[in-house]
Order: sequence, then C-alpha cells, then structure tokens
Amino acid sequence: MARKFFVGGNFKMNGSLESQKKIIEALNAAKLNTEKVEVVVAPQALYLLNTRAELRKDIGVAAQNVFSKAHGAYTGENSAQSLADAGITYTLTGHSERRTIFKESDEFVADKTQYAIEQGLIVIACIGETLAEREADKTIEVCVRQLNALAAKVKDWSKVVIAYEPVWAIGTGKTATPEQAQEVHVEIRKWANEKLGAQIADALRIIYGGSVNGGNCKDFLKFEDIDGFLVGGASLKPEFHNIINVHN
Ligand code: PEP
Repeated sequence: MARKFFVGGNFKMNGSLESQKKIIEALNAAKLNTEKVEVVVAPQALYLLNTRAELRKDIGVAAQNVFSKAHGAYTGENSAQSLADAGITYTLTGHSERRTIFKESDEFVADKTQYAIEQGLIVIACIGETLAEREADKTIEVCVRQLNALAAKVKDWSKVVIAYEPVWAIGTGKTATPEQAQEVHVEIRKWANEKLGAQIADALRIIYGGSVNGGNCKDFLKFEDIDGFLVGGASLKPEFHNIINVHN
C-alpha cells in the first residue's frame, strides 16, 4: 500500500502574532508539493484559530496537546471537541516534552489519543527513548511499551500517525542517522504487524523527528519505512518548504 508522505511542523511555544503571520504568508505563497505530501503545522494554542483562518487549506493545523474530556473543570486544557469544532483537525499527543516536563504517562497519552480520535481528529502520537535508555539498549523496549499503551486504547489506527522521536535528538542538533531511524521504524512496523495485523501495519505512517532540517531530510528518503518527518526548529524557517518538497 502506498502511504502518503507526511510532514508536520511543530512550532512549540515559539512565535508572536507578527512572526506567525510571516510564516503563514510564506507558506501561502510557496509552491508546495501538497498533492504528494500531507502537511500539518502545530502552532501554540493561542495561535490556532488565526492560523486556521489565514493558512491555505491544503495544509492542516494541529494542536500540540489535547485533553481526554469534552468540557468541564479542566483549567488550562484543550478540548478535542472544541478543536474539531474550530476546524483544527489534527493534534500531537505524547510529545517527549509533554512526557518529560509535564510527566504525562503512557496511559494518559493513550487516553487522549483515543479521545481525540473519537472527536474526529487525526493524531500524531509521539514515542521515543531517552539517551540513557538508548545507551542501556532499551530503545525498542521503550517504544514497544509506549506503543502497547496506545494499542490498549486506540480503536481506529487509520487516524494515527506514529512519530518516532528519539528524545536525545530533539532540539539538540543531534539527528539520528537515517539508518538508526529506519532500524527503529522497522521494529515499529513489525510490532504493528504482530499486534494490529498486516493491513494496519502496512498502512500505518511512521514518521521521524529529531533535528530534521533542509540539509539532512533527503538522506532519509532511501528508507521505505520512513514515511515523513515531524520537524521542530526548522519548521519556523524557510527551509521547512524544502523539507515539504523533499521529493522534488
Ligand atoms: C519536535 O519538536 O518534535 C522536534 C523534532 O524538534 P527538532 O526538529 O527541533 O529536533
């Protein structure tokens, strides 16, 4: 099955109305290969609505985080139902910054993922090991633990994109080599095949994130299990366009 290449831009907690406007205008003016590549940007929550209103419609908008309840006394949280209502049709879950800084557990991430899917969102679910876990040879064990937690809750895998993001490669300038990424992506697909069945495994997009930039993105293309990228720092720069157009 041909999997549509996926490129997400995670703006993290960056930007101002002014800088955001410039990024949107540049994306709107660019010649982007959105027929071949599904493109999504994730601004901070404050800028979701204006981004959705001003950005070209062949680029999706994602929340960086979501909560597993519709409404109520959950101060500071993003309702998946409200996101869907506002045309924000994607969300990240389980980004390593959420897992490490905000202590989100595997189960909590899985709950939010399933709830967001129920509200009609597509979820970019992030997994990945820390440096200490990699050095202790626990990369696959950690990824499988995070995946098993997701599998315990998620019912519709066609609404999930898995982002493999080794924590040691995020925002550090230390990219995993394409070979290291492919090695883990193969294991993730093997896991999906065993746990979810061949059809789901074949269709599941597994994207890589961790210091991807305009200079290194092409190196990942030779591996068939790398179905795209989740881009942090470089998504705020003009080189994001080159990453989207990596096949050109
Ligand atoms: C991210 O935030 O998901 C990410 C991959 O960041 P960076 O590209 O800056 O490493």
